[in-house]
Amino acid sequence: MTETAFDLVLSGGTVFDPVAGTHSVTDVAVTGDRVARIAPSLAAQVAQAGQVVDCTGKWVMPGLVEGHTHVFENVSKVGAPPDEAHLRRGVVAAADAGTVGASTFAAFDRYVVQAAEMRLVNFLNVSVLGLIDFRFGELLNPATLVPEDALAVAAENPGVVRGFKIRLSEDVVGPAWRSLLKTSLALAADAGLPLMVHIGETEEPLPEVLGLLRPGDVVAHCYTGKPHGILDGDKVIAEVREARARGVLFDSAHGRSNLSFEVARRAIADGFLPDLLTSDTSARNWRGPVFDLVTSAAKLRALGMTMDEIVPRMTIAPARLLGLDTEGYGTLVEGGPAHVTVLEDAPETTLPDASGNSITASRLEPALVLHHGRRVETTPWRGLDQDR
Ligand SMILES: [Zn+2]
Repeated sequence: MTETAFDLVLSGGTVFDPVAGTHSVTDVAVTGDRVARIAPSLAAQVAQAGQVVDCTGKWVMPGLVEGHTHVFENVSKVGAPPDEAHLRRGVVAAADAGTVGASTFAAFDRYVVQAAEMRLVNFLNVSVLGLIDFRFGELLNPATLVPEDALAVAAENPGVVRGFKIRLSEDVVGPAWRSLLKTSLALAADAGLPLMVHIGETEEPLPEVLGLLRPGDVVAHCYTGKPHGILDGDKVIAEVREARARGVLFDSAHGRSNLSFEVARRAIADGFLPDLLTSDTSARNWRGPVFDLVTSAAKLRALGMTMDEIVPRMTIAPARLLGLDTEGYGTLVEGGPAHVTVLEDAPETTLPDASGNSITASRLEPALVLHHGRRVETTPWRGLDQDR
C-alpha cells in the first residue's frame, strides 16, 4: 500500500476550478471532511469501506453559495426554510438579504443561523424592523433607520453580518429614497461592509442610484423587467457599464417579480453577465417561479451563459463578497473542506420567468451534495408537483 485510501471518489466528472476559470475531466477524492486529491484515475485507491461514484457526464464543483435569499422562517412572511430550500438543492452556504433588521437579529441568529445545518450569513436590513411583512414597507417610517443599532449588531456579530441591505422600492422607502440611501451608504462605510441595493419598483432612474454607490456595493435584480432597468433597447446603458468598471457588483436575484427573460437575453447577448448569480428564493417563490438556485442557473444557461461562466458566479464570487472564501467555501482544492455539489442535466421543462413568459430548457439537478464531507440528502425539483 503506497497511497492513502480515500473514503469517497467522485470519478470521471467535469470538474470546475472557479478561481482559475477552467474545467477538466478528472476525479475528486474525499477523506473525512477534506478534499484529499484532485487527479485522474483515483478510483482504484478507494478504501475498502469507501465508495466510488461515477460522475461521468456530470458537473462537479464547489458546494454552491447563494448570495441572495430570504430564510427567516416563521418570523417573516418571506422566510423559507434554509436547509430544505437550499442545502437539499445543492447550496451549502447562503446570505439572507435584508429579511432581518437590528431588532430581530438575535432571533435570526439563534433560531435560524445556529439551527441550520448549512452555513448562513446575512445582509442586515438598514431598517431595524427588517422585512417582516412585505405589505408594510420597512422604511416608510424613516425613523426605523437607526445607524447605531445596525452598526452595533454588525460589530457584535462579525461571523454573520457581512453587509447591509436597503430596498429602494417606492412602497418601501417612499419619497425619501435619496437621504435613506445616503445614510445607509455612510453606515456601511463605517462598518467597512458592502451595501446591497434592491432595484425594480423604484421611482428614480437607475443612473441616479448608481452614481451614489461605492466599489463592492451590490445592485440586486439587474435583469428586472420593471422600469428603470439596465437596458436601453437591446443595449446595456453606459452608466451601468461605468458602475461595473468602478467595481459596483450586479446580482441577478430572480425573485418573484424581478427576472425578465427578455432583459436577461438582451443583456447577455450584449456581454453583460451578472457578477453574482443568485435566486432571491423566498417563501413567496420557492414553489415557483424561482424554485431554487440551480433552476435560476439553468434559466440563464438557456439564455446564453455557459457553465464556465455560471459556476464561478454561484461559488467563488459570492463566497468572496461574503467573506466565506476564508472558510474554504467557493473553491474545490486539495486539502480544503469537502463542500462539493455535483449537478446533472435534467430533462427539458417549461420554466417561467417573473414577467409572465416562459422558455423550454434543460434544468440542472443536484446529483450529489457534500457539506464538510457529509453527504446531504437531496430533494426532487419542487416544480414536479405542479406537473401532476
Ligand atoms: Zn430579495
